[in-house]
Amino acid sequence: MMVITRFPPSPTGFMHIGNARTALYNWLFARHHGGQFLVRIEDTDRARHSEDAVLAILNGLKWLNLEWDGEVVSQFERRDRHIAIARELVAKGHAYYCYCSADELEEMRRQAKEQGLPTFYDRRWRDRDPSDAPPDRKPVVRIKAPLTGESVVEDQVQGQVTVQNKTLDDFIILRSDETPTYMLSVVCDDHDMGVTHVLRGDDHLNNTFRQKIIYDAMGWDVPVFAHMPMILGADGSKLSKRHGAVNLEDFRARGYLPEAVENYLLRLGWSHGNDEIISREQATAWFSLENIVKSAAKFDYDKLESLNTHYMKQADDSRILALITPLLIARHAIDISADETAKTRLLAGMAELKGRAKTLLQLCDEGSFYAKKIPYSFDNKATEILRSDAIQVLDPVLHQIRDHGNVEKQAVEDICKRVAADSCDGKLGKVAMPVRAALTGTTVSPSIFDAAAILGFDEVIARLEYAIENFTEKSDRQNASAN
Ligand code: GLU
Repeated sequence: MMVITRFPPSPTGFMHIGNARTALYNWLFARHHGGQFLVRIEDTDRARHSEDAVLAILNGLKWLNLEWDGEVVSQFERRDRHIAIARELVAKGHAYYCYCSADELEEMRRQAKEQGLPTFYDRRWRDRDPSDAPPDRKPVVRIKAPLTGESVVEDQVQGQVTVQNKTLDDFIILRSDETPTYMLSVVCDDHDMGVTHVLRGDDHLNNTFRQKIIYDAMGWDVPVFAHMPMILGADGSKLSKRHGAVNLEDFRARGYLPEAVENYLLRLGWSHGNDEIISREQATAWFSLENIVKSAAKFDYDKLESLNTHYMKQADDSRILALITPLLIARHAIDISADETAKTRLLAGMAELKGRAKTLLQLCDEGSFYAKKIPYSFDNKATEILRSDAIQVLDPVLHQIRDHGNVEKQAVEDICKRVAADSCDGKLGKVAMPVRAALTGTTVSPSIFDAAAILGFDEVIARLEYAIENFTEKSDRQNASAN
């Protein structure tokens, strides 16, 4: 038997990280077994439907590199089939038309609450002759749930789960306006798509008992179920926006690599011994339902960050360069797409940039100076340094570099040390700091000696002159206006 899994998100406009994990596990399980991973969009809520919301889901899957098999299925487009199944269930005596008015239902609800009953609908149309039907009222279709005994689901994660059938109501499968309910559509679709394994969040465990009634009534094979615990925030409540990023798009925007998110989600709810860094190949080879963790996992942003640091170091330099190119435009208004010098410098500095950064954003910010063009601006801290007496070291540094004739790493370091010995009691930082501020416009960057070597002789001279001119002029102007 071929294993077929599915990922059936409701298009809400974003991909929650919990849904991304569900998609990943279904993908891994299918690939592990050489089976298929299908995607179905549960787009039956037409009032709120938007194609952008569907795209957000598909883009999330593509970003995580979870390719699906076959066409994406639209649940809405299958509604005629769902309606036909509802009618068939009525014809077979497993479902029935219910003509209750809203007032009647309200009264039942009130009474059930008063008596503390597990379900409220009193099944008054279950065995009633349809000829009693009020002529002007459109009926809903309700399933005939078992009245006595218990139902059992052998869940692959939760173990054997039993419910008393008296807690199951005769739920609606087709509304009076002929729209099928989720409970009916999901079963029809899973059956028709040949789904063998349903791996989803444990918020759907209760639905499973209801869905099983439909499978049994139709005589269809019931898939294997595995319900995963939820993802929690650090405080133990369900992970939500107030804990931090929760949507895949947010993680992407914060500069995480998809393979880091994937590895993190894999370990968040599944384990393989003490392994933490797990490649896609290993995950595919090792993935099994038995090793899904039974207790809810807490989302740990620090751990994700450390995985991201790891994967950034592993990543190809040219790939990182491509990933930060749009970030340089968005965050620094620097377009390097046609700037070969900037690209060459960034690539030359990439190993060190990758070694320092936890996210692509940090890497982009700390590397942006390589792509700057004179005149560039200085951030507040750099401005503060260059407005102070510290700027005085730039002149001797400039002259000595000019005399030396090149900016090899060791040469620049030696020059800075000499200037420090001459005018800063040997404190190298007192020289390196203003040099960094001058060359980068910031106070955070990789080693300034490496950076100088990468920028090259002409650029270092030009940047030092630019900084000296910029700040000397300003202080002169200030002095002039103060006088
Ligand atoms: N559309 C449902 C959801 O997003 C899918 C439920 C299921 O997996 O059956 O929660």
